[in-house]
Amino acid sequence: MRPCFDAAILGLTRLGSPLLDLFFPVPELRGERCLLEEPFCERCGHPYWGEIDGPFRCTNCGGRVCHYAKARAQYLNRGAVREAVHAFKYAGEYWLRRMLGEWIVEGFERHYADMAFDMIVPVPLHPSRFRWRGFNQAEELAKVLSSRMGVPLVRGLRRLRDTGVQAAMGRRERWTNVRGAFGLAGSGAYRDTRVLLVDDVFTTGSTVNECARQLRRAGALSVHVIAVARG
Ligand SMILES: [Zn+2]
Repeated sequence: MRPCFDAAILGLTRLGSPLLDLFFPVPELRGERCLLEEPFCERCGHPYWGEIDGPFRCTNCGGRVCHYAKARAQYLNRGAVREAVHAFKYAGEYWLRRMLGEWIVEGFERHYADMAFDMIVPVPLHPSRFRWRGFNQAEELAKVLSSRMGVPLVRGLRRLRDTGVQAAMGRRERWTNVRGAFGLAGSGAYRDTRVLLVDDVFTTGSTVNECARQLRRAGALSVHVIAVARG
């Protein structure tokens, strides 16, 4: 894997309302952005730190039923990327949606440019968490991707219970925590569709796998996953 690049200051341009720009200072994010590049697990995109010939599957995917076909991300979840995602989700930096949205578009173009999708489905947020945050971060990114790629955005899933902050849980706990946490929403017309599932960060894949399970059960032909960052 190529070493990280762009270790200099990220000179971020505020992409929100010009009026807001006038009154609120633009935060400066420092650090590095590391692209998710091969070699990585052909299924979940888990990076492999070394030399390897040909496609491989990581031990996490080898021992589990994966309901999605592939998961990819634009960056590794570290440095300036981690900082930006964290600010977006937890510090009310809503304006970052445009920049993170551009990153996910770049990830799409690197990993899925030769593929066709029928719909873009964001990982849903539980209503209580939505009220707290004011927006669903995955849906905001999906909106950018949808408008840029010309693929319809479908709110096809709903979260049936609040699964808490997955980032605070261990690998095994995450998988049991999300079991049965999602249900279908919307029209339910998923039969024979090729779905692109969008989330902000992909770590163990437990959340997207459970979402993909629901969509496949509803008849989706395939589910691919794209995220801004791979944990
Ligand atoms: Zn894997």
